[in-house]
Amino acid sequence: MSVEDKKILVVGFARSGLSATNFLLERGARVTITDTKTEEELKDYISQLIMPPTLSLGGHQIKDFLDADFIVLSPGVPSDLPELQKASEGKIPIYSEVELAYRFLKGRIIGVTGSNGKTTTTTLIGELFKRAGRDCVVAGNIGSPLIQWIEASSASTETTFVVELSSFQLENIEKFKCDIALILNVSPDHQDRYDQFEDYLQAKEQIFLNQTDEDYAVINADNPFTVKMASRRPARVLLYSRKQDLKEGVFVRDGSIQVIWGGQEQCLMPVAEIQLRGKHNLENMLAATAVGYLSGLDREVMIEIFRSFAGVEHRLEWVRELSGVTFYNDSKATNMDSAAQALQAFTEPLIMIMGGKDKGADFGVLQPWVSDRVRLLVLLGSAADKIADSLGDDVATVRAQDMEQAVELAFERALPGDVVLLAPGCTSFDMFDDFEHRGRVFKESVNALRK
Ligand code: ADP
Repeated sequence: MSVEDKKILVVGFARSGLSATNFLLERGARVTITDTKTEEELKDYISQLIMPPTLSLGGHQIKDFLDADFIVLSPGVPSDLPELQKASEGKIPIYSEVELAYRFLKGRIIGVTGSNGKTTTTTLIGELFKRAGRDCVVAGNIGSPLIQWIEASSASTETTFVVELSSFQLENIEKFKCDIALILNVSPDHQDRYDQFEDYLQAKEQIFLNQTDEDYAVINADNPFTVKMASRRPARVLLYSRKQDLKEGVFVRDGSIQVIWGGQEQCLMPVAEIQLRGKHNLENMLAATAVGYLSGLDREVMIEIFRSFAGVEHRLEWVRELSGVTFYNDSKATNMDSAAQALQAFTEPLIMIMGGKDKGADFGVLQPWVSDRVRLLVLLGSAADKIADSLGDDVATVRAQDMEQAVELAFERALPGDVVLLAPGCTSFDMFDDFEHRGRVFKESVNALRK
């Protein structure tokens, strides 16, 4: 693909948009950048440009979209923008940043998608490869944008890129292909951006696009949506399951991780030796095991990493123990599935801090676990009333004005042996910049507590 002298519109100007713009400018493209934020708001990114592109900020101009030879979409931009629809009706190609990167990249790609667990599993696979001494880069939504790695990748075709892929990124790919494509799960979420769950499913299924029988698809056999995708794949499918004994695949038998693949059967390790809490994290490990086997990683390396991997910040992260009360930060639990997984990861009595901005979720689905394990719900943010309406009959609730107060209330009411769990089940945007900010404020408040 040549971009020289092409008119290219980059939509969304943050980390990924900046990398894409610099990449295109270096190769002689005529770039325009557009974002709803203003020049003032974006000045930190603008100062890192290697030369000035055309700026079209503080909103979108339809003519920028219609004039472009093609459009590059940054990961955070919703693909249902009216201007994008118009461009697509005008047959202007729209590529996500990973598609653009793919056109220039050399190396193997392991793509990871799913509604929940992408960052955890991508990180875990990266750790496996690094420990095994492989040349590996973790990129995509975590780490750095894939486009930043083009130069490095041309030096060696041996590099493996482990790429976290959101459905928004997958919606706009054309030639992008994974050597190993992993789908963790699909659960209803993002209702605020997807009118149709079907569209969301289809976007996720794009991870298998362009794969041939030389490639691999790693698929969760326990999820009703992903398992259906298995029969539709031309790639070789390796299934994994936490619940079923598979004829072939990665699964749990007699409390140990078992692999049956290519006529070989091997017991990897007892599940009890895994450090990370939660059956969802066991699923992530099974998925990573499948990828590890397909990549010929050493069994001992996998065992070592699974024994020691302590998870990723803000995902069921242990924070502190104080007066017999343990605090966990799962600020990334922004939907019902991840909040339900968090609840099920504990046998201790729970004081749960929930709330934030509602995405149209049905909090009632949490009822069985809330009644079973939660002693007190501490509610925060604009969704507090809705959560109280859905769950308040089953459990005591209190309201907090802010995170600091929520943590203090939780600690006051906690008994030794209890767990205080932040698993909001909502996004953070009513009170915080993002889930990381929320998680940090939680941890600061917890660390400020005195006996
Ligand atoms: P993603 O990148 O897909 O958002 P993360 O690894 O950041 O996934 O985890 C998001 C949330 O989902 C966290 O609360 C985490 O504890 C939970 N989670 C992690 N893995 C899974 C899984 N396999 N199924 C359900 N929830 C999960």
